[in-house]
Amino acid sequence: MGKRNAVLLAVLIASGAILLPHPLPASGVYEEDLSTVREEIFAMDTYMTVSATGRNAKEAVEDALEEIRTLDALWSISEKDSEVSRLNRHESVRLSPDTRSVLERALEISKDTGGAFDITIYPLMEEWGFPTGNYQIPSEKILKELLGRVGSDTLDLRTEDPYTLPSDRQIDLGGIAKGYTSDRIMEIFEAHQVAAGIVSLGGNVETFRTKADGSLWKVGIQNPDPDLEALSGADVIGIVETAGKAVVTSGGYERYFEKDGVRYHHILDPETGMPAAGGLISVSVVSTDGCLADALSTALFVMGKEDALSYWKERRDLFDMILVEEDGNITVTSGLKDCFTSDLPFETAEP
Ligand code: ADP
Ligand code: MG
Repeated sequence: MGKRNAVLLAVLIASGAILLPHPLPASGVYEEDLSTVREEIFAMDTYMTVSATGRNAKEAVEDALEEIRTLDALWSISEKDSEVSRLNRHESVRLSPDTRSVLERALEISKDTGGAFDITIYPLMEEWGFPTGNYQIPSEKILKELLGRVGSDTLDLRTEDPYTLPSDRQIDLGGIAKGYTSDRIMEIFEAHQVAAGIVSLGGNVETFRTKADGSLWKVGIQNPDPDLEALSGADVIGIVETAGKAVVTSGGYERYFEKDGVRYHHILDPETGMPAAGGLISVSVVSTDGCLADALSTALFVMGKEDALSYWKERRDLFDMILVEEDGNITVTSGLKDCFTSDLPFETAEP
């Protein structure tokens, strides 16, 4: 890897998935209308970059940043007057179209993953202290009590407008908001007819078409645990070459706290209320549907390898994935056969 790449990697390494810059063509000749505009923003609790190439790139990127700010303001947990905060106070809320659609997607994916993904996880997230950083380990009694408040089957968006959450339910869109947002940005790129574009919203990367020169985007998958012998020395566990798709990674390493030598991370198992312990340390999902990719990266992490593979076998047309186990074992589903490369050994899962 060149020095330039190494520097960029160091800058972006916090984000789960890493954009690998493509070396400039030797000729260095760019037509004026193929110039690239790139902006950074901190929103939804993470660093984001938005980049587009083409005549309308500037307007497209500006609109994308505006969209990020709008959705962040709607769904923020820390912002007292956000739509989600008002819902969580059980106010009657006339839902904005974006909130309605993200909730509909969340409910549908929750159902389809047998509850492994569930936005009503919020009371547990709060008790563990993840939204505030005031971390604590809940007692068994409290866990049991709060588990009674998890389950999105009691949310029915069709019945009411304005909408009020059931009195024993509160929501957290942290596992799906960035995927929904990157999909919206792809629509903005489409509306502006940009030639090429890419966003990285924390661990969520989504690519619009190919790069302007017609080549594929290269998205590096962050090494979830460089201390593991099997993975040691690698910045990335591999590279996905893709166009027009999202590459979303979830891992316990992204947010956690330690107590008495034990690590507690931020992806909770809705069945136990504990940090998911399915034996995986990282899950990356590749799909044309960024919203699905985001929610599934969280859900498959909760499921563990065996259930994740069965789930994939039934829905191979919708996504592919890269699983990393606690021992460093890497499994890649067969749809990525021609687009995943790695210096590390990996297994390919067939349907
Ligand atoms: P990140 O936001 O770090 O990229 P994820 O996409 O995996 O990671 O989302 C984790 C976030 O999703 C948590 O911070 C929390 O807000 C929420 N969450 C945690 N567990 C679940 C779950 N089982 N289902 C739905 N959302 C969850
Ligand atoms: Mg997610």
